[in-house]
Amino acid sequence: MRIVIALGGNAMTAPDGRARVEDQQAAIAQAAEPISGLVADGHEVVLTHGNGPQVGNLLFKNELAANVVPPVPLDWCGAQTQATLGMTLMNALDAAFAARGFAKRTIALVSRTLVDADDPGFASPTKPIGRHLTEDEAKVLIEHGQQFTEVPGKGWRRVVASPEPRACLDLAAAEALLAAGFLVVCCGGGGIPTVRRDGELVGVEAVIDKDLTAALLAEELAADVLVIATDVDGAVLDWGTPDARQVGGVSTTEMRAIAAEQHFATGSMGPKVEAVTRFAERTSGTGIITSLSLIGEAVEGRVGTRVTAA
Ligand code: ADP
Ligand code: MG
Repeated sequence: MRIVIALGGNAMTAPDGRARVEDQQAAIAQAAEPISGLVADGHEVVLTHGNGPQVGNLLFKNELAANVVPPVPLDWCGAQTQATLGMTLMNALDAAFAARGFAKRTIALVSRTLVDADDPGFASPTKPIGRHLTEDEAKVLIEHGQQFTEVPGKGWRRVVASPEPRACLDLAAAEALLAAGFLVVCCGGGGIPTVRRDGELVGVEAVIDKDLTAALLAEELAADVLVIATDVDGAVLDWGTPDARQVGGVSTTEMRAIAAEQHFATGSMGPKVEAVTRFAERTSGTGIITSLSLIGEAVEGRVGTRVTAA
């Protein structure tokens, strides 16, 4: 089977969220283990990943240095994190495959995601990113063209567009590398947000949800399975209450009905449920939400939240 796996924050940072170089290397090395297991079982794997903490750190550096070194735009930050996380995944997976005695190679693509230039997010950005700044700190960045909103009692927070992903622009390269036998890492951080302007592709200041891009990537690659790998075993109803219970195997119709009851938080589980449901609605494949360590069992249909069209 062709399986697209989206790695969440816990696959790339320490359990407490720390993102020192060694934390990222350790988390990725741990993630490489179950992934190499799927490959050993004969599956073709494509990886994508989030980049929230990594971009957060780059933004912090931009803010601190804004008076000295011009801050770089978000599409540049996205490209930087694709490269460093991609390199770390390549090293970790090379090692995991070598430990299993085979010579599969991994390659990470710097890859762009097309969004609509007239996506409503660009006119009124709502996605908060980075830390809270003082008014003086924010002023410098506003002079560099960034948009901020005041959060009462907390300070100033940068807001950006979070447009819908429309197309994975570098898919042909991913396909060619898959055909050549590589495990491909692409569309990290949702892909570098790109618009078509006067016939040319240009990067834009935005953040694309990595789970929604993963759904699009899986659909465009005609994958059999999309796995959103996170730090919980599945999507949970009445999350955080004594009635909490995990969703198992469900149809797309059932999942749409459940999601309408507001069980899934907007910034976390919500987009994951949307991603697996979309994928299942648009393909004959299965969309899965589960934890990294359970990927193998979930693909076999035994655990996790699993959505199929019906
Ligand atoms: P990732 O970093 O892997 O992309 P997030 O941290 O954004 O993932 O989302 C996963 C988190 O969503 C879980 O750790 C959990 O705290 C939270 N969450 C919110 N609502 C739910 C729910 N209904 N079921 C399960 N997890 C939920
Ligand atoms: Mg997280």
